[in-house]
Amino acid sequence: MQHIAVLTSGGDAPGMNACIRAVVRTAIYHNCKISGVIGGYEGLIHNELKELSSADVGNIIQRGGTILKTARSLRYKTEEGLDTAYQNLKTRGVDGLVVIGGDGSFRGAEALAKKYPDIKVIGIPGTIDNDLFGTDFTIGYDTAINTVVQAVDNIRDTAISHNRLFFVEVMGRDAGLIALRSGIACGAEAILIPETTTYIDKLVEVLERGWSRKKTGCVIIVAEGDDAGGAYKVAEIVKQKFDKYETKVAILGHIQRGGSPTCMDRVLATRLGYEAVTSLLEGKNRIMVGQVSGKVTHIPLTKAVKHNSEINETILQIAEIMSL
Ligand code: ATP
Repeated sequence: MQHIAVLTSGGDAPGMNACIRAVVRTAIYHNCKISGVIGGYEGLIHNELKELSSADVGNIIQRGGTILKTARSLRYKTEEGLDTAYQNLKTRGVDGLVVIGGDGSFRGAEALAKKYPDIKVIGIPGTIDNDLFGTDFTIGYDTAINTVVQAVDNIRDTAISHNRLFFVEVMGRDAGLIALRSGIACGAEAILIPETTTYIDKLVEVLERGWSRKKTGCVIIVAEGDDAGGAYKVAEIVKQKFDKYETKVAILGHIQRGGSPTCMDRVLATRLGYEAVTSLLEGKNRIMVGQVSGKVTHIPLTKAVKHNSEINETILQIAEIMSL
């Protein structure tokens, strides 16, 4: 391996910078040239590569976002875009590519390495959604849920002071893991996620039970992709059936993406960045590095793409029991 390139792709996630730093420093340690691609696959098409030194990645471990920028590239999905990206890598002598992103980004990496076997690719799970098979946690998830927990704790203070019922919408179009974990940590009265059917009558029962035992405020966490709709829609339907509390809606939105990564995300990002480079140097290709039960794992990119993490039934039951 002569020259490795690293890019961040898809939605940004806290810890991506810590991961870039680990990739760069591990490559340099092994006397390998390392370049950063600016702007994900779009940057690859526009030949926006910059050689990185150890100093270039100093003072970034604590920063959210990604110094390499990220993008969604429609052009890269075309044959012409893929070919241009490959030509640019080839001209620069790049023979290994590290892609930090989610399942879409891995599909892009797989497409490149499948068509052009002289470029080896390794994926690192970097997404706040934690929806990838092959790793217990994705980089950014821990920070995102801690941001949600802090926000919901603040909201509960005002909910209790004013006897209000809050519907708090969190990110998760297809996956409810942010909602579920943060909801448990915040003691939410109910957690609505896309993976399970939402029964409004059951939700109303929970609220009535709380009201009858003089609960002064309630917080319902709603993943944005819940089958009953987003927080505004659910609040509207519930209000028609139960209107004892004053109802409010809070959409947490993009605050969940930014911010300084937690210790857990920084360490995970550093570990996986290191593993990605050493895997490339060992000749591994078309895999994602992850961590399961504390151990580093390697799974084919095609598996990381196809499988979603499953919701643990016991966790669902615990969440329900805790709202009694
Ligand atoms: P997040 O989980 O944060 O959304 P992601 O990596 O899943 O991250 P996507 O927008 O799905 O984000 O994908 C990122 C980019 O990967 C796309 O903009 C596109 O350039 C590339 N990509 C996605 N799917 C393919 C594909 N089938 N073939 C080639 N490239 C793809």
